[in-house]
Amino acid sequence: MTNPFASYLAQLEQTANLLKLDSWLKEQLSKPQKVIEVNFPVEMDRGKIRVFQGFRVQFNNVRGPYKGGIRFHPEVNLSEVKALAAWMMIKCAVADIPFGGGKGGVIVDPKKLSERELESLSRAYVRAIFRDIGPDWDIPAPDVGTNPKVMGWMVEEYRRLNVGDKKYLATFTGKPVEMGGSEGRVEATGAGGVDVLEALVRKKGLKFCPSNFGFPRAVTIGVQGFGNVGYHFARLAQEAGFKIVAVSDSKGGALMSNGQWLMANVLDYKKKTGSVAGFPGSKPITNDQLLITNCDVLVPAALENVITEENAEEIKAKVVLEMANGPVTPRADKILQKRGIISVPDVLANCGGVMVSYFEWLQNRRGEKWSKKEVLAQLKKKITRAFEDVHRESEKRKISLRQAAYVLAIKKIANAMKRRDGPAVLPEKTISTAKT
Ligand code: NAD
Repeated sequence: MTNPFASYLAQLEQTANLLKLDSWLKEQLSKPQKVIEVNFPVEMDRGKIRVFQGFRVQFNNVRGPYKGGIRFHPEVNLSEVKALAAWMMIKCAVADIPFGGGKGGVIVDPKKLSERELESLSRAYVRAIFRDIGPDWDIPAPDVGTNPKVMGWMVEEYRRLNVGDKKYLATFTGKPVEMGGSEGRVEATGAGGVDVLEALVRKKGLKFCPSNFGFPRAVTIGVQGFGNVGYHFARLAQEAGFKIVAVSDSKGGALMSNGQWLMANVLDYKKKTGSVAGFPGSKPITNDQLLITNCDVLVPAALENVITEENAEEIKAKVVLEMANGPVTPRADKILQKRGIISVPDVLANCGGVMVSYFEWLQNRRGEKWSKKEVLAQLKKKITRAFEDVHRESEKRKISLRQAAYVLAIKKIANAMKRRDGPAVLPEKTISTAKT
């Protein structure tokens, strides 16, 4: 299994060579500024106390406060959290928002906890890290296994521990709307992905465009993962005229080649039965089959490292839109490139979430409330601009979209680091005055 942090380092290495980056910058960008490991007790429903292990990685804050989600998953490990934190640093630079990169995680299967246990765990994690986070320092958000409800418990616990901090709401994003969350945050990552896909289709004039772009046949899409990102992406893509032919979750997948199903109904079915697999009228498929299914656009929206050198040769899609973080291993990426398959990198495809997190943070700080229409319109404008910038760089340098996104991001971060931490260039006069 590819180590996700090794994937980040490989991407950094390539970019550093392209940009002829100073060695101290490359070294700093290959290590997190701070790693926090916490071990904390939580009382289970039957009275037993279990100790959980969690992390918060603060990768880089040269462009603004650390920013990144909190993952609750049994396979969370430090290498993964470090990679996710580094990708957040790159993503915030690609999205052009004034945040750095961070990420948190707890080794736990949240599905095996009762609601009370999940709340206790969420609050206990905040008690363990609260001195290291804050509205101007490190701003967590939801990720796999966490959601607005969890953010609500966390912000409430943070407020309890920081009585008097008037800016406490801006410490977490992705909160429930009634607790200071932004309208449109829940669907933001999926919505941004659809905006990016539409921009790509327009730019490349791809022949498989949906009917509303004036082409005869709808673009077909397969989506792996039907959680926050996968579901909203699939729903909004369908509303935009794309044709969803396959979806899956951790328990299996469903194939509907004619695309005649409504994503809202698939979600209802998943809520009732626990999985999208078995949706009436669909053909059951495995997650492995979904990845190599016949479709124009493949959308991994679950976990990392699902497209590997083992299946990259068999992928039939012409575009891979990386809605999950790190779904394609570096070796698989090379194979896809060689085969002419366009990969839209995670740091661009899924940056809609952090963009709207930034809008939420702004609203909390300014005491404003934006409408959903306003949020989604701002998102479309900003993410389309980010796509245009990356696309232009890729055409100019004749490099992939991924490489172009890294070049743009690392240039911005390195310039900021040179200003903040580079060799001091003191004017002559200051030096001589200082000596006398
Ligand atoms: P989620 O927990 O809401 O959903 C995850 C989905 O993946 C679920 O449907 C689950 O069943 C499925 N899944 C889990 N293990 C799987 C497996 N082994 N095979 C197939 N499916 C599996 O999480 P999410 O918030 O939708 O996040 C999904 C991905 O998107 C992650 O990589 C996350 O880091 C990334 N992401 C999330 C956001 C956000 O705003 N939530 C923003 C940017 C990136």
